Amino acid sequence: MDYFKEVSEWVEKNKDNILTGLSELIKIKTENLPPTGNEKPGQEYLYNMASKFIDPENLDLFELDEVERLKEHPLFFPTIAGMQKQYKNRPNLVARLKGSGGGSSLCFSGHMDTMPASGQKWNVFPDPFSGKIKEGKMYGRGSMDMKAGTLAGFYALKCIHDLKIRLKGDVYAESVVDEENGGVNGTIASRLRYPDIDFAILAESTNLNAGIETIGGSDWIAEVLEEGPGGIGTESELPNPIYKLAKVAIALQKYDKEVLGNIAPPVTYDKDMRLRLLTYQFYSGGSNYLESGSVPIKGHIYFWLEAFEYMSEDHVSQEFMKFMENELAIYDDFKDSFPKFETVIRFLYGHKTDVAHPAMNSIRKAYSKLNLNYREKGIPLAMDAFAFKKVSNTEVVVIGPKGENPHGVDECVDIDSFLNLIKIMVLTAIDYCG
Ligand SMILES: [Zn+2]
Repeated sequence: MDYFKEVSEWVEKNKDNILTGLSELIKIKTENLPPTGNEKPGQEYLYNMASKFIDPENLDLFELDEVERLKEHPLFFPTIAGMQKQYKNRPNLVARLKGSGGGSSLCFSGHMDTMPASGQKWNVFPDPFSGKIKEGKMYGRGSMDMKAGTLAGFYALKCIHDLKIRLKGDVYAESVVDEENGGVNGTIASRLRYPDIDFAILAESTNLNAGIETIGGSDWIAEVLEEGPGGIGTESELPNPIYKLAKVAIALQKYDKEVLGNIAPPVTYDKDMRLRLLTYQFYSGGSNYLESGSVPIKGHIYFWLEAFEYMSEDHVSQEFMKFMENELAIYDDFKDSFPKFETVIRFLYGHKTDVAHPAMNSIRKAYSKLNLNYREKGIPLAMDAFAFKKVSNTEVVVIGPKGENPHGVDECVDIDSFLNLIKIMVLTAIDYCG
C-alpha cells in the first residue's frame, strides 16, 4: 500500500507538536565539553517522548561502559588533546519499532551532543538556546547540528506507529553521545551493540541532498619550544617562538592554497569544492597586555586538516609533513629545532555509500512520491559516517535538513526541510522494511 497521503497528513496534523518538541530539545543544553559532555538530559527527553509509544524492552538507554569490546576496538579513541575522555552519565539511546520478521532493518541515526554556545553574541535571538522561530527557521545551538535530524528519526518511528503500519523489518531511531570534536566513540558503541542493522540514514545536515560521500580530517597542533630563559635579559640570546610560529602560519596558508587548493575533488562533489586547512588558534606569550611583558619561550598553532575518502591517515600526514619540512628548510631558525606537529583528536575517515544498495532505491522512490528534488552528492563535512561500515555491517547515507551556521552564532534549521525529512524517513522505511 502507498502511504504517501497518510504520512503527509500525519506530519501536517502533528506539526505543532513536532515543532514544540524540537524547540524543547534545543532549549535543553547538551554541549560537548571535552573530556566530558552534557548529553544526558537530552537523551532522557527523547526517552520520555519515545516511551509514550514504545515498550521499555525496545528502548535501550545504555552507558558506553556497558558495551563490551568498545575499549578494545581499534577505532575507539580514548583521548582528546591528551585528556582521557569520560563517559560516565553519557548514555546512548536506541529505540526500536519491532517488525514482524523477515524484512530488512533500517536505522535513523543522530548525535545528541552540540558544540558549546561560544562566547560570542547571538543576533537573531540573543539566547543561544532559544528554540525560537523566525521566517521559517528555528534558532539555537544544535538546531542544525543536529537535534532536528536526530529528532526527525524519533518522529518517523512515531508516525509509523500512529498510522499502525506493520513492517517486516525492525526500524530504529538512535541518539548517540560524543560525536563533536572528533568523538565518534558513541557511534562506535551503537554499531558494536547493533552490528547487523542493514542500512542507516545519518541525519546530519545536507540540505536534503543524499550525501553519498563525506570528507575526513583531523585537528592538529604545531608547537614551538625555545631553549632559553625567556624574559628581557641582556646577558643572553632570546630566541623567540613568535617569529617561528609566524613562519609556520605562512607555510600552513601555502599548504591550504597551493596544495589542497589544487587537488581536484572526486566526481560526487561540486566542481569548485576543495579540501581546506583551517587555522584556528595562534598562541604565544598570553592573550592580553597584562599577560605580556617578556619574550616567551613557547607557542602553538591549532589547525584542522581535511582529507578525501580515498586518502589514508598515513598518506595525509606524510604528504603534509614532507611539505612542511621543505617549506621551513629555507629558514635558519628551524635548523636545530623543528616544530612539533601532532594530531590532537582521532583521524576522521571520509565515507562513501554503495549507491546500488536496495535502500537507496527506496529513498529515491520516497523523494519522487513527495515531489522533492533528489540529488546524490558528496558533502564536504567530516562526521561519524565512516564508523558504520568500518565497525558494523550497516551501509549508510547522509540525509538531513537544511540549516545555517553550524558551530557558529545564529545556528538555525529550516523547518520545511525538517518536516520533509520525517516524511522521507517514513516512506523509505515503508518501502525498504515492508
Ligand atoms: Zn554533527
